[in-house]
Amino acid sequence: MDPKGKGRRQFIKNSALGMIGTGLAGGRALAASQMPSRPATQVVPDEAPKIKEYRTLGRTGFQVSDISCGFILDEGVIRAAYESGMNYFDTAEEYPGHHRVLARVIKTMDRKKVFITTKLEATKPEPRATKSEIKEGFLKRARKALEELQTEYVDCLMMHCPEKAETLKDEGFHAAMAELKAEGRVRHVGVSQHGTFWFRDPEETMEKILLAAAEDGRFDVFLMAYNFLKRDNAECVLEACRGKKIGVALMKTAPIAIYDTLRSRIEALEKDKKDVDPLYADGLKRYKEKFEAAQEFIRAHNLKNPGEIRDAAIRFVLGHPDVHTACCQTQTYDDLNAYLKLSGTKLTVAESAKLDAYREDCGALYCRHACGVCEPSCPSGVPVNTILRYQHYFASQRREKEAMGYYAGIPGVRADACGDCAAPCEAACPYGVPVQGMLLVAHETLSMP
Ligand code: SF4
Ligand code: SF4
Repeated sequence: MDPKGKGRRQFIKNSALGMIGTGLAGGRALAASQMPSRPATQVVPDEAPKIKEYRTLGRTGFQVSDISCGFILDEGVIRAAYESGMNYFDTAEEYPGHHRVLARVIKTMDRKKVFITTKLEATKPEPRATKSEIKEGFLKRARKALEELQTEYVDCLMMHCPEKAETLKDEGFHAAMAELKAEGRVRHVGVSQHGTFWFRDPEETMEKILLAAAEDGRFDVFLMAYNFLKRDNAECVLEACRGKKIGVALMKTAPIAIYDTLRSRIEALEKDKKDVDPLYADGLKRYKEKFEAAQEFIRAHNLKNPGEIRDAAIRFVLGHPDVHTACCQTQTYDDLNAYLKLSGTKLTVAESAKLDAYREDCGALYCRHACGVCEPSCPSGVPVNTILRYQHYFASQRREKEAMGYYAGIPGVRADACGDCAAPCEAACPYGVPVQGMLLVAHETLSMP
């Protein structure tokens, strides 16, 4: 972490911030009440990386930047994001150390002009726990989060990944939220969902849970998974959000594989595993075949890096009228610059065609977030969707340490069960994902010493 280091100097040099010092970059559609001040004589050039569009975050009424910040551990990058006009910052009690990093930047922010959300894991209450005990548990965790964030209040406190629609009705949780609201320490209550250990209850899909949350009426903001490869089960949720004026923040918006990483992992496994079960080798072979088909797409479209498709993917979600902000994984100043350039832009016809072609040629290499359809077919109960989400954190979002920690913490069976299996999960996957090979690679990656 080097908030004042080379990356930040380069970012400032590349941006209007170099010209306006620590003033904030404004936006054409920014509400007057949120208009940041800057010296009247300074002109921000069009090419400066800044937020260009703000949208109303549902019934919260907040004018939110169309591009916003997910989990970032670099204090300097968070500060630069804020100075560029991003105003929605997402965190969670389970993101290691993130509350305290964000706290250091919050102190320097104009608190009224930003929307801070944090999330508390939805816990399964002990069978004998009373409503009052559950309430006290949530209150204790919420107060700890507020203390770590060093802020008087959070704009939204979310129930994180409830496993069932029934969990949304946890009266202990709602009693805690009511108390915190009355104290002015929580402004809104929300819910986030990107899939859980779905195999435990296949009826409880992301859309079922979020539709129930919309119906419940106590959740003002949703943080949910939606992207150009995963539309079917989220469209109905977005429609419900429109009807109920629920704010919509998206995650997992760019499900783009980093192909160089994939190739080296597959090759390393092929090289190292000479004496593996033939079923292991078969699974890896099927994965490689799909991977090679994707390589054709990359060659045909002259893709030098996944950035081009990622940009189109984000423009795609921003084009949905019921989406208010896309939370992006902005780990570096370069990431930040790239995402800021997407603010206020539209998907072109050529980009849309390219996304269609990508879906056709590369779609099988993406395990849809919040899916889990194949999981009941697994004789060992492997949490396929969860493991491949952790692999996405590692390989596409560069959250290596965190992903490995999550993988180590999976209770029960992990992907080491896949080596001598005939992989019935692959026949069950409607998207043709080469599940076994992907899990074998994920296991090797996520359990590296
Ligand atoms: S492998 Fe296929 S069916 Fe299984 S969770 Fe992923 S996308 Fe869904
Ligand atoms: S390969 Fe076998 S053990 Fe692994 S997830 Fe698929 S069905 Fe389960």
